Amino acid sequence: MRRPPRSEPLSGTCMHSGIVASARSCLRRVVRRARGRSMGPVIFMYHRIAETICDPWGISVPPARFREQLEHLRAHWTILAMDELVSALESQSLPNDAAALTFDDGYADNVLVAKPILEDYGIPATMFLTTGSLGIPSPYWWDELATLVLERPEPARIDCEAGGIRLTAQWEFQKSPLPELRAWRVSRMPPPGRRAQAYLSLWTTLHRLQAAQRDEAMIALRERLSPAPAFSPENLPMSLAQARALTSAEIAVGGHARSHVPLPVLSESQRRAEIEGCRADLLCLCDANKVPGFAYPHGEWDAATRAIVIDAGFAWAVTTSAAPVNPQSFDRFALPRIQVEDFATDLSAFR
Ligand SMILES: [Zn+2]
Repeated sequence: MRRPPRSEPLSGTCMHSGIVASARSCLRRVVRRARGRSMGPVIFMYHRIAETICDPWGISVPPARFREQLEHLRAHWTILAMDELVSALESQSLPNDAAALTFDDGYADNVLVAKPILEDYGIPATMFLTTGSLGIPSPYWWDELATLVLERPEPARIDCEAGGIRLTAQWEFQKSPLPELRAWRVSRMPPPGRRAQAYLSLWTTLHRLQAAQRDEAMIALRERLSPAPAFSPENLPMSLAQARALTSAEIAVGGHARSHVPLPVLSESQRRAEIEGCRADLLCLCDANKVPGFAYPHGEWDAATRAIVIDAGFAWAVTTSAAPVNPQSFDRFALPRIQVEDFATDLSAFR
């Protein structure tokens, strides 16, 4: 997540990225730059296979659209498991049309909806789990914030201190989420109105807080706003049983830290707890050989974070730097990815 969207007109911000162009605009630029050359291998980044009301980060792909995308990918790309892609990259044998699929965060819809579809198609994917959220029956904080601010009818005026920070926001009554709020994507559009401005402002403040502060801030917001309706099970993090059942012939599990805080804002000991703790959590859930990969929360990393990921025993890591993989020049612990959204196209831009 985040450096705000306006600084780079063609770039935007994916919720789980640093600066991430929307895949399409990125791909247009890449294709322009390549001037007819093939784009090269790509690691695709998904988050959710779900229908959602407001989706400011463009992280939800409806199941029918996901099937269309898999049809296209299967027809036009050589789809590899992430381990295969990394091995082929290391041995300089990666096909130019190679692709791998990844999912971030550990939503229950990954196991309930995405996994059966991927298995229908025999397409492999790696799912990166935020292990501190597994088994906790509350939504991810960014989803709850979107529901509270963008989707509820009541007006609000917030001015309070919580989690060591000041929270201020104000918005008016709305009968139901306005079409412009439903269509709003942070990566491509300025916030349409006060609710969107408030959401982005609160999100920007909260996402860099440590987990305990962030939880305090969310409690304060909940107390001051009309409650969000209960989230259905597929919109929550996976249960522990779901996480245990995730690994299969098609599905591998990877790490996404414990509390989804940008790792560079933490002290070294906190980073170690996030990364090594996540790996330990995963090893309790899955076979050690099946958790080689790590995805940096919000795509944020630095040399110290990278070193801890290596120390922890991960074999490769992915960022949210929106680019194809360059087989001539790559860092196995900072592989780029391109986010897939609910594209109303046949994905022809991808190939
Ligand atoms: Zn994430």
